[in-house]
Amino acid sequence: MPEEKRKVDMDKIVSLCKRRGFIFPSSEIYGGLNSCWDYGPLGVELKRNVRDAWWRAVVQERDDVVGIDASIMMHPQAWVASGHVEGFSDPLVECKNCHLRWRADQLSGEKCPDCDGELTEPKMFNLMFKTFMGPVEDNANVVYLRPETAQGIFVNFENVRSTMRKKLPFGIAQIGKSFRNEITTGNFIFRTREFEQMEIEYFVKPDTDDEWFNYWVKERFNWYLKLGIKKENLRLRRHGKEELAHYAKDCYDIEYLFPMGWSELEGVANRGDFDLAQHAKHSGKGLDYFDEETNERYVPYVIEPSAGVDRSVLAFLVDSYDEDIAEGETRVVLRLHPALAPIKVAVLPLSRNEKLVPMAREVYTEVHRHFMTQYDDAQSIGRRYRRQDEAGTPFCVTIDFQSLEDKQVTIRERDGMAQIRLPLRDLVSTLQAKLSGEAFTTQPTWSAKAVGTRED
Ligand SMILES: [Zn+2]
Repeated sequence: MPEEKRKVDMDKIVSLCKRRGFIFPSSEIYGGLNSCWDYGPLGVELKRNVRDAWWRAVVQERDDVVGIDASIMMHPQAWVASGHVEGFSDPLVECKNCHLRWRADQLSGEKCPDCDGELTEPKMFNLMFKTFMGPVEDNANVVYLRPETAQGIFVNFENVRSTMRKKLPFGIAQIGKSFRNEITTGNFIFRTREFEQMEIEYFVKPDTDDEWFNYWVKERFNWYLKLGIKKENLRLRRHGKEELAHYAKDCYDIEYLFPMGWSELEGVANRGDFDLAQHAKHSGKGLDYFDEETNERYVPYVIEPSAGVDRSVLAFLVDSYDEDIAEGETRVVLRLHPALAPIKVAVLPLSRNEKLVPMAREVYTEVHRHFMTQYDDAQSIGRRYRRQDEAGTPFCVTIDFQSLEDKQVTIRERDGMAQIRLPLRDLVSTLQAKLSGEAFTTQPTWSAKAVGTRED
């Protein structure tokens, strides 16, 4: 167990998120609502960037996966077919003394963990949120808030296949909110009752499922690494036979070393033909596939990589959180991948001196057109660097009095705090290159050109 990771406790992450406007407790002025969190101005950018990175990787950069956005409320029969009405339940026990409720399968003893009181017999508790559609509250009008986005994909299998003229193998991807009335929640945004999923259902010919299953496990594992998660904090865990859903052939969890220990970040499952077969049976509509190459008709198998947006956000925050020493003081820095950083560039005039403001504003206006940029002129330059470090901003651009003379500005880099000075006209292209991964160097390649131009 890497000791280093253990040093980041969840309290530090929660406190940074509050302090810098990433994540707030929901309805905080009313005392908050258990397990509900609101993404603030920086959090919403980070979350969008996580979603966008996923969508780009699994939809836009591939020609075998297309996206959909299905409604949260579905026909109630869809949840009968999927097995959720019957079986999506946890065993619930209640303390006879303090009336707290617990998941029986997560308790180690026979007593209430809070007050040591006696517990009731377990009863099964369905985790789906139920509500009523239309003005009449009776059973005929019951609808559920979806507990997973997957079923919206399965019921659209034939619509997507026929309109997009897709041949196997192909996938359908979706990002959206799901809801589970969990008995116990916790660990910040790790387990909440309202959460966001990024799911792919990848449909394959039955005898090719093992190959595609292995492919997607690797593909998804590498996605986290590419976005900067440290390899030692990521691992694969294969489900044991007793852990697998009755229909699943195989399943891997991609686990991350969160502050509370190794926990699931994403699941990749081989679901066989269970889902399409169930929906075909309950809807009466054929969902089989005619294979023109082999002249066969069969129900496709499906590989499901299912990731949590909020869990990914938490993993990226935890993994990028670091403390080092700057100017003799502890510096908190989020070493986020540039693609995920909420703010890419901060424009900082050395001071609020009226001579500096016009040029600083001009730089801001230009940079702002290309990248998510923040202008900050409040407090000392050192304090402003610290703020941007905590926000994970990869680059700060500083305008000083010398800039007025020589039309050069300074770029300061977040991770090593190195600085380079360059002509203003090269600023955008340089930032572009650095944000795309070009090494940051104090020996700029453009210095010869810059000198040459000045001599002209
Ligand atoms: Zn109790």
